[in-house]
Amino acid sequence: MLVFAAETSCDETSVCLMKNKNIVDHITFSQEIHKIHGGVVPELASRSHLEKIQEITQKIFKKNKIEPKKIDIFTATCGPGLIGALLVGSTYVKSLALNVKRPFVPMNHLEGHILSTSFNNEIKYPHLVLLLTGGHTQFYLMQNSKEVELLGESVDDAIGEAFDKTAKLLGLGYPGGFEIENRANKGDEKFFSLPKPLINDKNLNFSFSGLKTYINLLIKKSEINDFFINNLCASFQKTISDIIVSKIEAGIKILNERNINIKALSVVGGVSNNNYIKKNIKILIDRKNIELYYPIKEMMSDNSAMIAWACLKNYNNSKNNIFFKCEPRLRINRNL
Ligand code: ZN
Repeated sequence: MLVFAAETSCDETSVCLMKNKNIVDHITFSQEIHKIHGGVVPELASRSHLEKIQEITQKIFKKNKIEPKKIDIFTATCGPGLIGALLVGSTYVKSLALNVKRPFVPMNHLEGHILSTSFNNEIKYPHLVLLLTGGHTQFYLMQNSKEVELLGESVDDAIGEAFDKTAKLLGLGYPGGFEIENRANKGDEKFFSLPKPLINDKNLNFSFSGLKTYINLLIKKSEINDFFINNLCASFQKTISDIIVSKIEAGIKILNERNINIKALSVVGGVSNNNYIKKNIKILIDRKNIELYYPIKEMMSDNSAMIAWACLKNYNNSKNNIFFKCEPRLRINRNL
């Protein structure tokens, strides 16, 4: 089974050829244009996808000496994401599929992230999935490989957004995650005591907007120099990590009360790249006798390899639907 996948939900233009369980090739173009704005500008993202999608698609076919008519399934992200960006990628892939009379399977970006760790791990169930991205912060429970249940999510900003906005307020680059981690390595994590919204609530929801407001006020009344920036980044990263670790612990406990004993935890999405957060999750998980999974590097940030994999994995349950309308707020409302 040879799959062609495209992912254009935000600021990455990505295409992948996957044969059975092998990534034949994977090209991801990260849009640099947003750097000067300190965040993604939707209209610029759509234009950039339009410029790149055809170029990298032709490149991947040519480089691997594969013709579109050899593809068994075409798939593309159809939500959630920026509507213009989604339309560029999915419409392009639908046209390719129509041209060679092959099925087009619409994919949910969140399913791509959730299933990403099953590419490189033999998942044990019940399985808790923590999704940490620029657009989402969510907990999912999978009691088996098919059933998926949303347990909690951010009520305002996503975790990646908290990193990006803090970096922007401090005049650091975009994306913020890497810059903050770098600065945090040189700072004192106990220097500032920052708020940890919802940390003691007995549910699995998150909130990051209050933290952003607090940091904004702190910056306004402080002298901004390297000492301040490094200490704030270290304290911010520790605060985020404390929130995540305590919510994972709460998740295990809440499920335990439902007689569900978690066997494994997956941490997926771009923020799962942060080494400090990873280290602290590992300390917690080692005490709990739970397996911990991360996606392979190619499937961490937004990418089309996870879309190809999710499509392949769920092919029997995924419908050929060329008429599927892109949905910017698409949720997971079916079992995988
Ligand atoms: Zn994503």
